[in-house]
Amino acid sequence: MAPQGIAEAALAGLRQELTGTAVAPGDQGYDDARAVFNGMLDRRPAVVAQCETEADVARAIRFGRDNELEIAVRGGGHSVAGMSSTDGGIVVDLGRMHTVIVDPASRAARVGGGATMSHLDRATQPYGLATTGGRASTTGVGGFTLGGGSGWLERKCGLACDNLIAAELVTADGETVHASADENSELFWALHGGGGNFGVVTAITLQLHSLPAMSMVMLLFRPEAGPEVVRAFRDFMESAPDEAGGGCIYLTGAPEPFVPEHLVGKLVCAALVTYTGTEAEARQVTEPLLGLGHDAEVISELPYAELQCMLDDPPGMRNYWSAEYLDSFPDEGVDAFCSRADTMPVPTGTQHVLFPMGGAVARSEADYPLPWRTAQWAVHPFGIWEDPADDVRGIQWVRDVRAAVRPWSQGTVYLNFIGDEGRGRVLAGFGEDNYKRLAAVKAKYDPSNVFRRNHNIKPLR
Ligand code: FAD
Repeated sequence: MAPQGIAEAALAGLRQELTGTAVAPGDQGYDDARAVFNGMLDRRPAVVAQCETEADVARAIRFGRDNELEIAVRGGGHSVAGMSSTDGGIVVDLGRMHTVIVDPASRAARVGGGATMSHLDRATQPYGLATTGGRASTTGVGGFTLGGGSGWLERKCGLACDNLIAAELVTADGETVHASADENSELFWALHGGGGNFGVVTAITLQLHSLPAMSMVMLLFRPEAGPEVVRAFRDFMESAPDEAGGGCIYLTGAPEPFVPEHLVGKLVCAALVTYTGTEAEARQVTEPLLGLGHDAEVISELPYAELQCMLDDPPGMRNYWSAEYLDSFPDEGVDAFCSRADTMPVPTGTQHVLFPMGGAVARSEADYPLPWRTAQWAVHPFGIWEDPADDVRGIQWVRDVRAAVRPWSQGTVYLNFIGDEGRGRVLAGFGEDNYKRLAAVKAKYDPSNVFRRNHNIKPLR
């Protein structure tokens, strides 16, 4: 039966015209098709169009418009705000369009609009090549890159969007448009942070980098050592080479062989350094941290694709995330950051993270709409829990972290790291001048704001 608002014949027509599959309520697999990463969001679309080709994407958009349905676009389904689903609308699901073609000669990869990090990393690894990817293997490359793209390699290789060479889009009118530095250059500029506002990206081409070796140094400490560890990590990163990335992370000690019994199920402070080089080099560089008196360590060289899976969480947990981007991080800031760890609900999936910025992220001279890239530090509390009864406490904790570090905040924010926090935060994500310029691009490619399930840029009137 066709869902309310869609004529039976129209749905039958869509089913027939798609190379992929249209899944509607009552169909087998509907619940799987509508599920997104954040278990807090339980939306029921009228139809999920599981697209396999560019023509499918154009057909699904047309179907949405003809039937006056809200259109959501889904890559990897990781939007914490749940932007890739809709109640009663159509989901243009790109998940089957995940082909990655690597050209080792030009060190570039053509990546399908629905590919995940694991599709990308597994395709590039055999060539000893990689590019900046998200820190979870199941994140969609599309949503990640179009929003900016922050990952372990960023201080060496730049943000993911800095590595964007070209994109292919289907616009709200169903037209195919190519964007690169030489073709539709204003649109190309807008795709460096402007997210899914301008069309459905069916493929992107990314610059790859040689990555002969990847290493990690992870040191675990009791939470009492946190302030000393975070200070030492801050001082270390301030003069660290671009090869070093990582973060300081408060989390619950997992029942893993490398976690000592006294830390399992307890709050742990971890100092993590990722290093684009050998284990011996990583040990040498991190010498100032190795003498801090840690309770446990993991120091090893490992395939990049394996590192990328290290923080993978199961889908379906309840997620509430936010972030603040800091201009400076004095001792008082460290104390404010660490004191919020003491109030973190434990045991939990929640993580309280400090990411170093700088390196190639800050050095870029590109004028892309990403004002937060000049920040020194990012504080990223991500609340993850299972029981709806913990919602109020979990959400409040994330908000309290933001409030605690706000005195040092730059006032900007990376929108991929936050949920739906209102219009002011979207403006903070781009800056006022960039927003106006993005709105002009939006007016050209999506004047009716068909693609509005995102950190939305309203078309310039
Ligand atoms: P979706 O939910 O499918 O889409 C998110 C948004 O992007 C939607 O508005 C959608 O319309 C749009 N979109 C997606 N694909 C396309 C496309 N092909 N064409 C047009 N629009 C599209 N971010 C980081 O920068 N670094 C990290 O390390 C990182 N780690 C993460 C780990 C986890 C577990 C999760 C849940 C998120 C993480 N993120 C990270 C955030 C992530 O980058 C964003 O949530 C991103 O939008 C996810 O992309 P997606 O395709 O998976 O999401």
